[in-house]
Amino acid sequence: MDTIIAVLTADEEENERILERAAQIIKRGGLVAFPTETVYGLGASALDADASSKIYAAKGRPSDNPLIIHLASAADASNYAYVNQAFESLAEKFMPGPVTAILKKRDNIPITVTGGLDSVAVRVPESTVARRLIELAGVPIAAPSANLSGKPSPTSARHVTEDLSGRVDMIIDGGDTNIGLESTIIKLDEDAPTLLRPGKVTLEQLTELYGEVRLDKAVTQKLYKGERPLAPGMKYRHYAPKASLTLVDADDDTFISFVSDKADGSTAVIACDEDTDALLCAGYEEKDILSLGKREDIISHAASLFALLRTCDERGYIRAYARLPEKEGLSLALYNRIIKAAGYDIIKP
Ligand code: AMP
Ligand code: MG
Repeated sequence: MDTIIAVLTADEEENERILERAAQIIKRGGLVAFPTETVYGLGASALDADASSKIYAAKGRPSDNPLIIHLASAADASNYAYVNQAFESLAEKFMPGPVTAILKKRDNIPITVTGGLDSVAVRVPESTVARRLIELAGVPIAAPSANLSGKPSPTSARHVTEDLSGRVDMIIDGGDTNIGLESTIIKLDEDAPTLLRPGKVTLEQLTELYGEVRLDKAVTQKLYKGERPLAPGMKYRHYAPKASLTLVDADDDTFISFVSDKADGSTAVIACDEDTDALLCAGYEEKDILSLGKREDIISHAASLFALLRTCDERGYIRAYARLPEKEGLSLALYNRIIKAAGYDIIKP
């Protein structure tokens, strides 16, 4: 199929025409990739079982890995899910925003969308482009990340085009995404709220809201064979670069000395701006030092991580090293994504 690629600019009227065209495609059961504040999403009507099935086919996504439905307003959630007090509190504090709630689903959401589950994931994106598209489509939009299954989530339209050109009807280019990591997912359909996937809305913020929040084991640990995470998507090896990625559990100096004798032209180091000089001295070429940004700027690390993992693939590195992130605040989201990318290969020098 031919994929329309439409670039959003400062021309608001033209942007509106682009979004109207995209909305028509969604209404007719087609696929549109669009920017959100987290990562790019691959959208289809969440009320149309056939349309949402096309998402799985285009991504090569296993059919038991459910989709998140995107709404223009939190007030719409009750049309598709059984909302509760915990959801109302979340919506008041964090919606629109980078957080997804798992609730018991209503019958109008097909089980192809929920991977066979009787719960549904609901999110109201902060991105005005995403919300306008949902409004114009007049239906909730089911959208996982717009990457091929197993690749890092796309944070730019170029990433989407590389993965999905020819497989979707339209790609809307809205520039680089702001946050760069997927939404926080919190399960609210049972007594105790449980964090299934960390993101920009942090465990600490959610604990402040609810008093107590459980952490699904799959967020920080490898599961045993046959063990099931609460978010089915967490069992798949996500975000995996082709290079073998090893995480180094060490302080800054130990990390630098550990990677120092490993420069060989086919090894990349994912590090911070402050590490550059020491790595150059250790024999790394500038191009093989992939910086997440300034050491304290975790927001920049989040925004850069997936693009750097794709860079590793493009440059054909055989090995890559990165420091193991902390488990606090937004770093917990980085920790969760990067341990999966590394296939849990963690070394403590
Ligand atoms: P993606 O949109 O690619 O970030 O993937 C969506 C994530 O949401 C996957 O990890 C799913 O497993 C998770 N998810 C979606 N619906 C549900 C649900 N009903 N219960 C638990 N997790 C869900
Ligand atoms: Mg995904």
